Amino acid sequence: MEELHPNTHYQLPPEVEEFRMLARKVCREELMPLEREYLPHPGHALGLKESIKIKNVFGKEISARLEKVSRDTGLWYVMVPEQYGGMGISLLARAVILEELNYCAVPLPVAHVANILYACKGDQVEKYLKPVIEGQKNTSFGQTEPGAGSDPGGMMSTKAVRDGDDWIINGTKMWISMAHQSDFIMLQAVTDPVKRQRGGITMFLVDRDAPGLSIDPKGIKTWHGAAQYVVNFDNVRVPAAQVLGEVGGGFSLGQQWLTIHDRLLRGPLALGKMIRGLHDCIEWSKNRVTFGKPLSERQAIQWKLVDMYVKINALRAMIYENCAKADNGEDVRIQASLVKLTSANWGAECMDEAIQIHGAMGESLDLPYTLFYRLLRHTRIGGGTDEIQKMLIARALLK
Ligand SMILES: Cc1cc2nc3c(=O)[nH]c(=O)nc-3n(C[C@H](O)[C@H](O)[C@H](O)COP(=O)(O)OP(=O)(O)OC[C@H]3O[C@@H](n4cnc5c(N)ncnc54)[C@H](O)[C@@H]3O)c2cc1C
Repeated sequence: MEELHPNTHYQLPPEVEEFRMLARKVCREELMPLEREYLPHPGHALGLKESIKIKNVFGKEISARLEKVSRDTGLWYVMVPEQYGGMGISLLARAVILEELNYCAVPLPVAHVANILYACKGDQVEKYLKPVIEGQKNTSFGQTEPGAGSDPGGMMSTKAVRDGDDWIINGTKMWISMAHQSDFIMLQAVTDPVKRQRGGITMFLVDRDAPGLSIDPKGIKTWHGAAQYVVNFDNVRVPAAQVLGEVGGGFSLGQQWLTIHDRLLRGPLALGKMIRGLHDCIEWSKNRVTFGKPLSERQAIQWKLVDMYVKINALRAMIYENCAKADNGEDVRIQASLVKLTSANWGAECMDEAIQIHGAMGESLDLPYTLFYRLLRHTRIGGGTDEIQKMLIARALLK
């Protein structure tokens, strides 16, 4: 039976398998025992970084213990290149680690570094990048606005105007995850209204306490809690030294963040949860008896298990192949859209079936399925909706 279970028979390089076994051990031994306490707690709103969720739910002691496990095993630095103390591991290895860690609802605290922050240069490295790597500073990504979601390049109205050695920023951002908890925001603003996304949008590192920047700390209430915020910029003065990357290069920097973090790596976030769902559903259906037989003997249930298994295998192949391509330096923007679209939809569908197979227990907060469903349903919207992914894929197909 074991060989039928997913994630045991795909041949990966030995060092990647070692990372898998390490992440699996940490997940099963350190995170799984905490899951029952974690699930009903309101402190883990979507969008908060892992260490904040852990601190909110379990307090300082457990949080310090998990952080130590994360640092001692090196998993803390999974997103960090060698030059900044990381292990310099491949995207494929990262995907495998994330797949394993996402088997459980409880997140492992890790360095939460947006890949675009590695564009920091000069003093920015000490002021912004290194403190984020070490977990001493938090950041958020400010692209969306009340009137600009799916079409940020065309509709963005937040503007930055040059004034001597500074830029003056005016506008409103909305739905910004962690803005209130952040020390600085990676903010996109229009610097050339003619060029817009083709060289007219710039990324700024804006300190949270900059005069003129205001945030309603209550946040926007959603079914995930309230970790998204409206951020107002009223003549906020930012030194030119706080431009991230090049003036006019902010839109493509944003796309780099979206391609890897918000699209390709959404794949393993779904995959781990889908594998957990299948494992639990197999166990549950063998033991739950109705009308004189275990559920596992009913074809209606067997077919649901098979459908989950098919999706898991197909998604895994898609993730591994495209992470390997990205590691080879290939352009994976369209494949990243494919992974995001597929993982969001199949992930949410598998969680829906996991709830169904468990009956009332599926809705209980003793099990992770309503949380997993919510998180995966969100990925059909956050980071670019299904429709936008389809638009990008169609454009590439028809070129
Ligand atoms: C929980 C949460 C966290 C978020 N965190 C962040 C964050 O940290 N930073 C940030 O910048 N943003 C964040 N966002 C915003 C998110 O990226 C946007 O909500 C998303 O890009 C969609 O934009 P929108 O909501 O304005 O939808 P709209 O653009 O208004 O679209 C509405 C619907 O129309 C569809 N649609 C739009 N255009 C087309 C078209 N041409 N053809 C067919 N259908 C179309 C869309 O797919 C969608 O279904 C977050 C959102 C949520 C809910």
